[in-house]
Amino acid sequence: MADSSNADGTQGNPKDDKHQSLAHDRSGGAGFLGKGLTSIVSFVTATLVSLGVIIFVMLSGSLEQEEAQAESLSHSQAEILEVYLSSAIHEVDVVMLSVAEEIGHQQQTGKLNPAVLNAYLTRHQALLPQIISLRVADAAGNVRYGPGVQDSAPTNVSDRQYFLVQRDVAEAGLVLGAPVMARISKRWVLPLSRRLSNQDGAFEGVVYANIALDYFSQIFSKVDTGPNGTVTLIDGARSVIARHPSPEDKDGFVGRVLSSPQIVDIMKAGKTEASFSALGTLDGITRIFSLKKLENYPLYISVGLAELDYLASWHRQTKIALTVFTVFVAFLFFSSALLLLAWKRQNRTMAELVLSQARAEASMSELRTSVAVQRATAARLELVLKTAVEGIVGIGADDKITFANPEAAALLGYPSAQVMLGLTTVEAFRHRLANDLLCTEGVCAIRQTLQDGEVRRSAEESFEGPGGRRIPVEYAVAPLRFEDRIAGAALVFHDIGKRIEMEAELKRSNMELEQFAYAASHDLREPLRMVSSFVTLLEKKYADSLNDEAREFIGFARDGAQRMDRMITHLLEYSRIGRSKEPFRPVDLNLVMKDVLLDLGPLIEQLQADVLVSDTLPVVRGDRDELSRLFQNLISNALKYRFSDRPTKIRVGSRAGAEVCTLFVEDNGIGIPPEHRERIFAIFQRLHTQGQYEGTGIGLALCKKIVERHSGKIWVDGEPGVGSTFFFTLPSLRQ
Ligand code: ADP
Repeated sequence: MADSSNADGTQGNPKDDKHQSLAHDRSGGAGFLGKGLTSIVSFVTATLVSLGVIIFVMLSGSLEQEEAQAESLSHSQAEILEVYLSSAIHEVDVVMLSVAEEIGHQQQTGKLNPAVLNAYLTRHQALLPQIISLRVADAAGNVRYGPGVQDSAPTNVSDRQYFLVQRDVAEAGLVLGAPVMARISKRWVLPLSRRLSNQDGAFEGVVYANIALDYFSQIFSKVDTGPNGTVTLIDGARSVIARHPSPEDKDGFVGRVLSSPQIVDIMKAGKTEASFSALGTLDGITRIFSLKKLENYPLYISVGLAELDYLASWHRQTKIALTVFTVFVAFLFFSSALLLLAWKRQNRTMAELVLSQARAEASMSELRTSVAVQRATAARLELVLKTAVEGIVGIGADDKITFANPEAAALLGYPSAQVMLGLTTVEAFRHRLANDLLCTEGVCAIRQTLQDGEVRRSAEESFEGPGGRRIPVEYAVAPLRFEDRIAGAALVFHDIGKRIEMEAELKRSNMELEQFAYAASHDLREPLRMVSSFVTLLEKKYADSLNDEAREFIGFARDGAQRMDRMITHLLEYSRIGRSKEPFRPVDLNLVMKDVLLDLGPLIEQLQADVLVSDTLPVVRGDRDELSRLFQNLISNALKYRFSDRPTKIRVGSRAGAEVCTLFVEDNGIGIPPEHRERIFAIFQRLHTQGQYEGTGIGLALCKKIVERHSGKIWVDGEPGVGSTFFFTLPSLRQ
C-alpha cells in the first residue's frame, strides 16, 4: 500500500502541496510588491529629504553671505560718509578759525574793516559748497558780517543754543548746534560755530557757518543704498539731523530722537561703530544698519540697507530653488508612480507566469495521462491490426507506406510487414485498375483519396506482390486527417480471388441450369401437345359412347394439359430472360408503356379499368423487350387481382434519382398481406387457387429476374382490401 505520510507523520495530498507552493509563490509575489513599494517610498523620501537639506543649507549659506555682504557694504558706506562728512566739517571749522583769526588780526592792526571782512567771508563761503552762510555775530547776538547781511536790521542769533554755549563756555571750541530753520535763508541748517574773544579772552561774538541739511541729503543720495536703503545723520543725543531719502514731513522729522534700543546701547557703550539689524521706525522695513561716529565730532552716520533689497537676489534664488525643487518633487513622484506601475505590472506578469507554470504542469500531467491512454489505445490497435483478417496499410501523403499489418504482408507475399514500409503503393503492390492499366497510368482511387479525402471502394482491381502473383482485391480507402488537412490514407483490402472463382462457378452452373430448363421445357411441350391432341381426338371419335362422367374426365385432362402448356411457356419465358446477347440500350419507358397499353387495350376496355400512366416516365438503359414484359406482367396482375364490384384504377409513375429511378404500378385491388410480400416473388408461389384466380406463379419471379438483370430491386407495398403498389428501380440513363 502506498504511504503518503510526510516527515512529521501527517498524511499529505501531493495536490495540496502543489497548491500550497503556488499559494506561497503568490504571497511571495505580494511580499515582493510590498517590498518594492516600501523601497520606492524610502527612496523618494530619502531623495526629497536630502535635496531639501541641500537646498536649505545652500539657501541659508547664501542668506548669511548676503547678510554679511550687506553688513560689510553698509559698513563701508558709513565709513566713506564719515570720512567725507568729517572732512567737510573740518573744512568749515578751519574756515571759521581763519575768520576768527582775520578778525583778531584786523582788531590788532586797527579797526575792524567791515568791507574787508565781508569780502573775506564772501570769498571763503564761496570756497565751501557745503555751507550756505558764513557769518559773524557780535556779543549781543546781532549778525554783523557775512554775505547778504544787512546792517540796518541785523538778525539776532543770541537765542540760538550754539550762541549761548559759545558765550558761556570759553573753551567750547567748535560747537555743532541742533538743526534750526535759518532766519535769513529760511532753510533747515546745521549751524557750526566758533567763539570770538578779545585779547583778554572776553566774549566778542561768534563766527558761524550753516550747512544746509539738503547738502547732507545730496551727499547721501550719491551713495547707492538700494531702492529702500537709508542714510541718516544723527547727533550724540540720537536726534535726526538729516536723512536720505528725505521724508515728506521734514519739519516733523528733523530733530526727532531715534529710540532704537540698539542705537541707545551702542551710544551708551561709547562705541564708535557697530552694525545691527532692526525694523525701520519710520517705515517698518527691516534693514541692516551700520552706525559710525564721525571722528572728532559728536555726529553719527547710519547707513541702512533694506533686507528686501539686499536679499532680492537671494529671494529670486530661493524662488528658483523652490521651483526646481517642486518640479523635481513632481518629477520624482511621477517617475515613482510610473516605476510603481511598471513594478506592479511586472509582479502581475510574474504571478501570471507562476499561474501559467502551474497550468502547464497540470496540462503536462494531463498530457502524460493522455499519452498513457494513447499508448494503451495504440497497443490495442496494434493487436487489432496484427490479428485482423484484412490487409491494412497506412499510406502517407507522399504515397509511401507508413504502416502495414501482418495480414497485408501475407496477402501480398512479403516476408514481413516491416519490408513494405517506405515503399510507394506502386512499388509495394503494383496496383492495377479494372481495365488492367497500372494505377499510375489511369484514375487511381487511392491517389484520388489522398487528394480529395473521399472514401472510395473497389472490387474490380488487383494487387501484385513481390512474387508476381496477381491478386484480385476488394478494398476500401479512407483519408487520414490531421488538423483539417489530409495526412494520408488507410487502405483495407482482402483477396477476392476465391469469391470470383465461386461466382464464376455459380454463373456457369446457372447457365447450365437455364439451358437445361430451356431444353426441358422445350422438349416437354412436344409430348404435352400429343396428350392434348389425343385427348381431343378421343373425345371427338367416341363422343356418342362416352357418358357425361367420361366427358368430364376428358375435359379435366385437356385443361390440365393446357395449363401445363401455359406453365411450360412461362418457364421457357423465364429461362430466356438474360439469354439475349444484345447490350443494354437507352429505352424510353413512355414508348414501352404505349405498346403495353396497346397489347392490353382490349382487356382494359373489357374491364372498363381506368389506367393512368405518367407521361414523364424516364429513359433508362436496358433491354426493351424485357422491360416491356415487366410492365405487362405487373399491369396484368393489377387487372387480374381486382375487386369485381369496384371500378379498377391503375396508376403508373416514376420518381427520378441521381443513380437510379424508381417506378411504381399501383392498383386498388385485393392487396397482399404483409407476410407474403417476399414470397410472391419466388417461382411458382401463388396466394390463390386456380378456382379463385388463374395463374402459374411465374409472373412476379419473371419480373424479379428482369429487374435484377438491370441491377435493380423490386418490392411491394400496400394494404389488403385497399390495393397494392409494386415498386422497382432501374439504372438511370447516365449510369
Ligand atoms: P400468377 O400467375 O398467380 O399471377 P404471379 O407470380 O404473377 O403468379 O403472382 C404471384 C401471386 O402474387 C399471385 O398468385 C397473387 O396471389 C399475388 N399477386 C400478384 N399480383 C397481385 C396484385 N396486383 N394484387 C394482389 N395480389 C397479387
